[in-house]
Order: sequence, then C-alpha cells, then structure tokens
Amino acid sequence: MTEYKPITPQQQPKFAGIKTFMRLPHLRAYRGIDFAVVGVPWDGATSYRTGQRMGPDAIRRVSLTLRPYNLALDVGIFEHCAGLDFGDVSVVPGYIEDTYDIIAAELCPLVEAGVIPVIMGGDHSITLPELRAIAKTHGPVALIHFDSHTDTNDQYFGRPYYHGSMFRRAVEENILLPANSIQVGMRGSVYSKDAYDESTSLGFKIVTMSAVRDLGLSRLIEIIKDRIGLSKVFVTFDIDVVDPAFAPGTGTPEVGGFTSAEAIDLIRGLKGLNFVGFDVVEVLPDYDVAGITALLAANIVYEFLSLIALNKI
Ligand code: MN
Ligand code: MN
Repeated sequence: MTEYKPITPQQQPKFAGIKTFMRLPHLRAYRGIDFAVVGVPWDGATSYRTGQRMGPDAIRRVSLTLRPYNLALDVGIFEHCAGLDFGDVSVVPGYIEDTYDIIAAELCPLVEAGVIPVIMGGDHSITLPELRAIAKTHGPVALIHFDSHTDTNDQYFGRPYYHGSMFRRAVEENILLPANSIQVGMRGSVYSKDAYDESTSLGFKIVTMSAVRDLGLSRLIEIIKDRIGLSKVFVTFDIDVVDPAFAPGTGTPEVGGFTSAEAIDLIRGLKGLNFVGFDVVEVLPDYDVAGITALLAANIVYEFLSLIALNKI
C-alpha cells in the first residue's frame, strides 16, 4: 500500500519532476489500490468551443501543490487509501464510437478490481462510457450531476452521441437509476419553456440554480442525500456549473453559477455516500485565466479523493 502515495517535497521539490496528479506514481496497476486518477483527453463531441483534450494535462500541472491532509474534512487521504495516476486512456480523434469502446475497455478492469476511478476530462460525452464500465460491475447506479446544462438532449445533427445527450443515452441503456439521480445547477437561456421536461420525463430530479439560491447549500445537500439514499452513486462534475468568474476555462459557460468556495463545500457535503466513481469534465485550458479553472478542477478531484478516504475510516 505504501508505494501508492505522492512524492513528498522532502524527497523532491514540488516544481521538479514529471507532472502526475498530486505527484502520485504513474502506473497501470489494478491491485492494492483504492482509487486511480485517469485522464481522458477527448473533445470530439462538443457543440461550441473545443480544446478540452488538454484538460487532464492542465489539471495535473496545477495539482502538484495539493497536500495530503484535508483539514476541512479531517482526513489524511493516504493514511486510509492508496492510489495512483493511471495516465490517460487512448482516444481516436474524430471517432467517438471507437473512443467510447476504448474508454469503457480501459476502465472495466479497474472497476472489476474494486478500484474507484476518478476521471479528468475531456468533454462531458466521456461520462457515458464511464457509466458503461461502472454498470458492468455494479449494475445501474445513481447519478449526482452538477452542470449548468441537463445533457439529456436526444440528437445532434441526427447523431446520438455528443456532450449534450449522455444522460438520455444512459437511461435508455439502463445503466442509471434515474429515480435516485439528481441534476443540480441548471440555468441560462434555453430553447423552449419545457427545456427541462426532457430530464424530468426520463425520471431525473432537477434543482435549478435559482432553486439552489432559494434553498441554500445545507438544504440542497439534504435533498441530494435523500435522493441518493444507500444507492451506489457516480458523481459527475461539469466545471461549467461554476460561475465563469471562477471557472472561465470551459467550452459552454453560463453566468450566475456557484462560486468556487460553494462548489468545494457542496462536494464536501456529500460525505458518506456509497461512491463508485467520479469525474470532472469540460476544463478548457485555452480559455483559462491564470490556470484558475484547472486549479479548481484539481481541488475538486482532491475533494473526491478525500471522500473516498473518509469511507475507508
Ligand atoms: Mn455537461
Ligand atoms: Mn455544461
């Protein structure tokens, strides 16, 4: 267990060395670990700006300042957990179905071995093959979906797969439990009055950003936890749920979102749920300012790892 932890600044200064997530060992191991951080450098399914393929690299570069003790959650991650940076899965630029097959095939052995994948995207379309890999071992799971968009559209130019349709496909494929799933943070201009009906008719519960403002974070966390219950749950975090003032580096920004502090508090509030996987997606470094979006994404991954560690105590 002890080899699967970060290099300390006493072994080598932070600025030195090859950049892996949090300075974890870069290995493809499946045994003796609790989590694997995995990059998916895919951006072939976006509807507006592209460049999310560089997200994993940007997140790794800023992650080296993360320290192993999470004081807010009172947990030393590597006192309870072992993990590694699995590197990036292969993608086939321009070919989403091939890429989907590879993502699922590379994640399946991790999930089968009981490892919790923590994935850095990539555009949001990658969550569908992630859920396929999860469901193969765990069956259909609950979903906590943070986003300013519902991503339950049907088609894009007559095609079934893009970064706005994954969760409709996942319900159709019976790899999600919509009755235990929740979508949080939706806002912005839409195409019609009934824009959110597609999600609710699939069985999802939606909490819009304006509802979040009325409820407050504590009540929102209670609502999420009531919805998930004891189900196995996958958490997907589209960085565009955060306000562009805090996360400008993304493809489809929407004003009026969470602050970075609220986003971190919200994730911490999920502690104790039965997590089977996580991702953070849609980081687009070309539009980032001073690396703040990547830094927030790195910290979101860090909070995910802390939630995994808390469940091991
Ligand atoms: Mn999304
Ligand atoms: Mn979005």
